[in-house]
Parts: sequence; C-alpha cells; structure tokens
Amino acid sequence: MIKSILKQILRTTNFYYPLQGSYTRIIANLRKRNLKKKFEPFKGSGFTCNFCGSSYSKFESWDPPGADAEALARNKVLSGYGENIICPNCLSTARERLVRLMIEKSEFPEKKKILFLAPEEKLYRWLAGQAEVISGDLEPGFYRFIDPQIRHSDATALEFGNGTFDLVIANHIMEHIPNDRLAMREIFRVLKTGGRAILQVPFSAHINNTIEEPAIKDPAKQSALFGQKDHVRIYQLHDYILRLQAAGFQVKYLTDEELSDFHHYAIQKGEGFFSIVK
Ligand SMILES: [Zn+2]
Repeated sequence: MIKSILKQILRTTNFYYPLQGSYTRIIANLRKRNLKKKFEPFKGSGFTCNFCGSSYSKFESWDPPGADAEALARNKVLSGYGENIICPNCLSTARERLVRLMIEKSEFPEKKKILFLAPEEKLYRWLAGQAEVISGDLEPGFYRFIDPQIRHSDATALEFGNGTFDLVIANHIMEHIPNDRLAMREIFRVLKTGGRAILQVPFSAHINNTIEEPAIKDPAKQSALFGQKDHVRIYQLHDYILRLQAAGFQVKYLTDEELSDFHHYAIQKGEGFFSIVK
C-alpha cells in the first residue's frame, strides 16, 4: 500500500523514471557480478552467447514467479522460462538471442529503418549501431535508460505513415494488448511491402483455443489465468498464426527442430519462430 502510494507520488514528479532506470541498472550490474562468479566453473564449451561471445556449459535458468507458475504449467506455455535462459556474462536472454539470430539469418539490418516497440536493451543497442531505429512504448519512461529518444507509441494507433519501416519488432508484446488484432493491422500498415515483423509471443500448442479476457484489469487474476500479471491472454499456436494472417501477413512457423542449428546459442527449448512478412 505504502509502496504504491509512494510510486504514485513519484510518478507525478520528474524523478520516477530516472530513479527506476538507475535502480534497474544497479540491480543488473550486481546480478552480472554475481553470475560471472557463480558460472566461472562452467566457462568453456557448450552454449555461446551471440551478443558477447562468451561460452559456458550451461547458462542461468529462469523460473516464473510462484503466482504465475501454475497457469503456465497447466497450459504448457512456452514463455521464456526454463533452463539456459540468461547469459552469465552479459545477461542477454534466450528471446533476445533468438531474435538476433533470425534477423542475421534473413538479412543484415544495416541502414534499415526499424520500429522497436518496448525495446530490449541488448537487441536495441546491437541494432542501433547499424540501422535507423525508432523505439516506442505506451510508458516510454521505463525505457528511457535504453533509448533517451524513445517516444510515446500506442501499437493500436501508430503515428507513422503507411509503408514506413523495413522491420517492426514487438517481442513478447501482443499478449499484453487487449485489441491485438488492431495492433497487428497497424504494424502491417506501417511496414513496407516485403517488410518483416518480429512478433514472438508466449503460446501453447496444447490448448484447444486461445484463452483470453481482453478487458481484464486484475493482476492477481491475470497471473492465475494467463501466467503473468499484465497479460490478457495465452495464445493457442495455430490461432495466433490465423490472427496474423487475418491482418494480411504471410506467416511461416519454423519449428524448434528447424532451428536446431541455433541450439548452441541457448535459445528456448521447444520454442519456434514466427516468420512474418508483409
Ligand atoms: Zn552474453
């Protein structure tokens, strides 16, 4: 209670996001130091990080918070948790490593125009070094420590003209958006013809339908139903592909087996990749 009141007061000042950014940075640095030490004995062959080049026989695992675990297990959701997720040297995550691998596989991003919604730090820095990257989010303050120029962007009402971008990245975002179909149509609209979208989501291949309640605003219920306090659904694999196709995209799902060349980069076990083209 006190924490939420304090948060509310801080948010009305200009201090909240800079403080939150500094806090995130301090925690990340501490974590990096601890993990480097803990994983010293595992240095060597096995998995390699495609961001920092470090190799270890195993990476740090990542388990879901207790309140989320039951829904994720019950629905067999692939959601970014499990073994070998976090690089002990640079803290890159399995989902960032997969996206980088897929971008490099399709074509080099050099000089491309990219929209990155809810930018992830490692990926953003790598892309910003070689492409024109515009980042945006509904709460841009949270990401200012990654990109000071980040703008306020609503995925369901993008402020860009038709055919602006070569690539749009919204990595693990659609499951947060009540009107996901509208967001997909907007992303389709701002892409150039032949442009690509990277829209990975948590999903399950073991449920009959997408489980959703788009209007829900109850974090405890959302954890219990969808496995995260700010998610509004769990996608069923095939239904997710159908929604993307309905927005106009050509979609090909590359299975985990088809990504076997990438397994030594410690990507998520069982997760495939949605290849999405306008
Ligand atoms: Zn790394």
